[in-house]
Amino acid sequence: MHVLLVEDDALIASGIVAGLNAMSLTVTHVADARSAEASLRMGHFDVLILDLGLPDEDGIRLLQRLRQQGMELPVLILTARDAVTDRVTGLQAGGDDYLLKPFDLRELAARLHTLVRRAAGRSVNIVEHGPLRFDPGTCQAWLDSEPVHLPRRELALLQVLLNNPTRVLSSDNLKDALYGFSEDVESNALNVHIHHLRRKLGNSIIETVRGLGYRLGPAGREVES
Ligand code: CA
Repeated sequence: MHVLLVEDDALIASGIVAGLNAMSLTVTHVADARSAEASLRMGHFDVLILDLGLPDEDGIRLLQRLRQQGMELPVLILTARDAVTDRVTGLQAGGDDYLLKPFDLRELAARLHTLVRRAAGRSVNIVEHGPLRFDPGTCQAWLDSEPVHLPRRELALLQVLLNNPTRVLSSDNLKDALYGFSEDVESNALNVHIHHLRRKLGNSIIETVRGLGYRLGPAGREVES
């Protein structure tokens, strides 16, 4: 899951980035409204975390504008404002959920998973894809009921594919989801993760769409004949 975090408080932001990274989420952090809009134009994200008190613009106004422009990304609002009117305004402006500061990072992660799941049209926690089962809450995957160990990058790769089951994702989309675009990525790194995921979940799990990118395919190891 690739999270865009818009938060101007450096201390809070670094805590969120470290905490979500530890739970296998990829986070791109920006500190103002202008950078948030630029990032949304550049990359693929699954969810937006939005602080309301930003240095260059009120978060509510930013959110209203993004929704008017047709942005459909789920948005979790972070606010220190404990007034009911602020929360109502945030939800009316197009927020999907909100958390009051200070909050528990595990609760933040759980809410992000719920928002992304809802946006993908799934109502149950476990994602089923043929013989593959995946629990985004615990980041555990099973193939034919056997647990499969997936390190952080492979988990992120599997999540972005499962969250976009019909979409062709470019290499850049996948790299954004795995690393965020602040990180320098070796060109071969993505291929290595794709190779590992195919080895563990079956060659067809990631289909190559020539010239365009990759798409989720059927899971399951080939039967040896
Ligand atoms: Ca702030």
